[in-house]
Amino acid sequence: MLEDIKEILISEEEIKKKLKELGKRITEDYRDKKDILLVGVLKGAVLFIADLIRHIDLPLQVDFMAVSSYGASTESSGVVRILKDLDENIEGKNILIVEDIIDSGLTLSYLYNMLKSRKPASIKICTLLDKPSRRKVKIKVDYLGFEIPDYFVVGYGLDYNEKYRNLPFIGILKEEAVKVAN
Ligand code: 5GP
Ligand code: MG
Ligand code: MG
Repeated sequence: MLEDIKEILISEEEIKKKLKELGKRITEDYRDKKDILLVGVLKGAVLFIADLIRHIDLPLQVDFMAVSSYGASTESSGVVRILKDLDENIEGKNILIVEDIIDSGLTLSYLYNMLKSRKPASIKICTLLDKPSRRKVKIKVDYLGFEIPDYFVVGYGLDYNEKYRNLPFIGILKEEAVKVAN
């Protein structure tokens, strides 16, 4: 698996350091809030949310959603199908959506509006990675790990054809690996 990686973009140590910072900020910002619910977007955000919550020193709940974008496979269409919805009603809760990466922003924008319509007390966005150069809709990111250039990245939860999620860093694949996996 490691032999498929061309370059490590963000190391395990850099991720660890950033999660500590984010956890501290979230802890401060949500200190006086009740009913805090972190919503992880499956599957990419699983590693991120699991590590992040260990740095949040507050009582909180965790839930997950799984979504899939209709249409072309490599680009978001903006129309999102809910594969797994939240287990509970979020009315009156303080929601923090936890995503792996924002690219066009279409997926998250849809999710954000859908959750907002359920009348939470507040709703914010936390993403590990952001590719702002690819954005198609405006999104306010409240907590950001790293801004990255327009590369297709894998690792730390992010996949290529469902592989590479278990790499402990964020990396870029060699062209051969992309061809072979295709
Ligand atoms: P958006 O709707 O913002 O265009 O798409 C976001 C989703 O596309 C992410 O949650 C992720 O699943 C996928 N995605 C976007 N960019 C990348 C990338 O560089 N690597 C991987 N593995 N997935 C990506
Ligand atoms: Mg995602
Ligand atoms: Mg994927």
